Formats: sequence, C-alpha cells, structure tokens
Amino acid sequence: MDSLGILTIKTEETLDKVRNGVIESGQQPMPLGGTSLIFNKIACSKSISELGNEGFTPLFFVADYDGVHHELLNMRTPNPSETGLLLSYPAPPQYHNSPIRNLPKPSEKWMKESLEKITAGYKGLMKGIDRSTQEKVLMNMQHANTIIKNAYYSTSNVSDWSTKIQASLINIEADLGVPFLVFSEPSIRRCFQKGFESLIAEPNRSKFIKASNEIVSIIEEEGYRPQIGYRGRDYVPFFFECMNNGCNRNRVELKYIKENTQAYIRGICNRCEEEYSFNINPSKPDLSDIIDWISPRVDSRQIIVDSVLPVLAHIGGPGETSYYAEVIPSAEYLGIPFPIFLRYTRTFYNTPWNNHGAKELEILDLPTLTEKRLFNSISLWVEGRNNQDSDTIREAHQKIHQAVMKPYGNTVKGKKTSRKQGRRN
Ligand SMILES: [Zn+2]
Repeated sequence: MDSLGILTIKTEETLDKVRNGVIESGQQPMPLGGTSLIFNKIACSKSISELGNEGFTPLFFVADYDGVHHELLNMRTPNPSETGLLLSYPAPPQYHNSPIRNLPKPSEKWMKESLEKITAGYKGLMKGIDRSTQEKVLMNMQHANTIIKNAYYSTSNVSDWSTKIQASLINIEADLGVPFLVFSEPSIRRCFQKGFESLIAEPNRSKFIKASNEIVSIIEEEGYRPQIGYRGRDYVPFFFECMNNGCNRNRVELKYIKENTQAYIRGICNRCEEEYSFNINPSKPDLSDIIDWISPRVDSRQIIVDSVLPVLAHIGGPGETSYYAEVIPSAEYLGIPFPIFLRYTRTFYNTPWNNHGAKELEILDLPTLTEKRLFNSISLWVEGRNNQDSDTIREAHQKIHQAVMKPYGNTVKGKKTSRKQGRRN
C-alpha cells in the first residue's frame, strides 16, 4: 500500500485491529476503478467493522491474479444513447489468459480521450437541466478526472491504476482507513503459503473435492445450474503462472498426479508449451519454490485467505453468493472455520438527469419511482437510524414501501389498460 501512496495513518491504525477479526470484501481490478457496487461493498464492510467494543478491520481484497477477460476490460458509462458509452482497454493477444495485473496501462491518448468521451456523455444527459446543477455536476466530474489522472501517472499496470483510484477515494478523500490487500505483490503471496499447502495436503485435497462435488449434485438435483461445477480427482486448488519471458505469466491449470508414495503437480503452458512438473510430499507439501508463481482459484481463495487472516465476515454480491453456496459446505466438511457471508447493502441515489426524465414522465401522467416522496422517506430513515429511533425507522419503512408500491401499482394498471385498448383495436 505504501508503494501506491495509499497508506494513511488511519489505515495503519485499522491494521492494528486485525487480531480482533477482519470484515472482508473484494473484487478484481476493474476499468477506471469500476462500478459503484464496489464502493457499496467497501462501505458495508467498513460500517460492519465498527460493531463491537474495539471494532474490527475492514479489508478490501484485490484479486489481481484473475485472467484477462471481457468483464475486466470493458465498462459502460451513461450517455444519451440506449447502450451508453462503451470503453474497452486495449488488450493485445499475448495478454489473453495472463493475470490482469500483467496488462500494461493503455496509452495516455486513450486515457485522455476516454475521459473526454465520458464527460461529453454526461453533458448530453444534462441537456434541459438548470445551468447551476450542470455546473456543479461538471465540477464533480473534473474532480473525478483529476483522481483518475493522478492514479494513471503514478502506476504502471491496469490493476494498480484501478486500486489507486479506489483507494484515493476510500482512504484519501473519505479517510475511511480501509487496508487494500493486493494479492500479487510478491511479499503478500508468501504470507499465504501455509493456506495453499494445507489445501493441497492429503487428505484435505481429496476431502475438498468430494464435498464440493456432493454439493454440486445437490444444486443440480434442485434444478439450479452450479457456478463452479464438478472438480476432477486431479484437481489442484491453485493456478500456476508460466515463468518464461514473453508469456506474461500465462495462467497454467495444474493436475495432481499420484505415483506410489510420491505426488506431482503438472501442467503445460498453452502459450510457450513448456511442461512444468513439481514433486510434492502428499501429506506435508512444501510450496516454497513456486510460491511466487501460484494464485488462488475461485473456490480456494477464501480458505487460503482464512489460513492467515481471521476473516469473520465476507461482504459479497450476487455472483459471490452462488460461488459461496458451493464452497461453504466443503469448508465445513474440512472442519475449517468459515466467515459469515453477507450480501452488501445497495445504495440508491438520485441524479439530476433522472429527476429531469421523471418530470417529463409526470407531465405525460405516467408513473415514476423518482419522486420526492421516495427520497423524503429515505431521508426520514437516515434520520431515524442516526437517532436510533425505532419508531421513526418503522414509519420510514412504511413510507418507503408506499413510495415504491404506488408507482408500481400505477404501472401495472397502465399496462393492463393499454393491453385492453390493444385488444379493442
Ligand atoms: Zn509459457
């Protein structure tokens, strides 16, 4: 964190509370810092970490070892078109399947043009809105652009660029003191060696596979589609990154091979075709030689992190919910303490262009959710929460319910009416 210039005093103080327990959230590095849901996750972990007498450590895990793929390269921002503005990091083919951390930053020209396009998109959305509101929004955008540019010039890859944008907002602007754990930092990886070793050690590895596969069949029997799916008997709970120059740490899937009393983990790099084979002691594996070249998988990450950090709760979104449904039973079967999984609280906020659009709908006598009534009732809830006044909170809940249900009811009525009219025609 120090090398990224995001280690504030408050963050250091928060780190001192690690032994009380960690409230974790995490994400892969996303273009330009990613969507607001990431900040919802961090805010949620921060507020939960303040519970208890001394408080806990909120922690943001940066999964920068994940392979370069569509979701980590593209982002959309609002503009007046139906599809919004699509921005894509240039990713030459030699980086496909490499960790996102290895992808260099796009050119300065790409960065400047993208910020101009984003600003132009918002300007387009604000047509018809009063000038003072427009000026305020544009000033905020300028401020955001400064943070993005500052992070751009002080980092060398897309992962650090994203982390620095997020941490500038969380720790420098808001001074929340949230440590960011950037997994691929060499000094960080080594901290987790024990976690990798305990999961590949027998009988843990085989038990993990058995328990995961049992839960996958239950999920299928219930008529759902598993997110991770069945693991073969040769499953290795981590990826290997190719050591050869020119491969940009291409990710290699390893297989576990047992030969008499010996065990091997083997894999072939699909870029340079180098074959890797490492001999390990099945019950007491020592991964010292390859620890700088391995990274967790989606189902092993939490267990590996828990082996070092006392994670009490993990704050996640819908995708993580389905992954965790497959991982939690396996951890239970291994007798490993596992954090509580909590869905983050989504923050909704209004924008001047939504307000403007809502007014146009009102003129046409069409129902809209974006009404003063909704935002007043949310303000009432905040007031009740701040004063710890349960009566006000209850009243606010009723008002929020009414504010949502009334336009919903009118929309349904409207649909029924138009269908009837359609039939008559
Ligand atoms: Zn290779």
